Amino acid sequence: MDCFDCHMNDQMTAAVGVCRSCGAGICPTHAHAIPQPLHHLNGTGVATRTCAARCLLCTTCLDAERSA
Ligand SMILES: [Zn+2]
Ligand SMILES: [Zn+2]
Repeated sequence: MDCFDCHMNDQMTAAVGVCRSCGAGICPTHAHAIPQPLHHLNGTGVATRTCAARCLLCTTCLDAERSA
């Protein structure tokens, strides 16, 4: 699969990942890894796990996420 954002610019770049939001293939230039805190329920309420998971987003979805 090729990077969708590069493809839109008439470039062919191999994708290294997939945007979690829109499913587009993304190359290292267009991929953004966002730490994703995980929550779980324990006896007294919600606790955040000490290690954050990872969320890959393309540039477009990252902009959309930050514009909210
Ligand atoms: Zn790209
Ligand atoms: Zn996306």
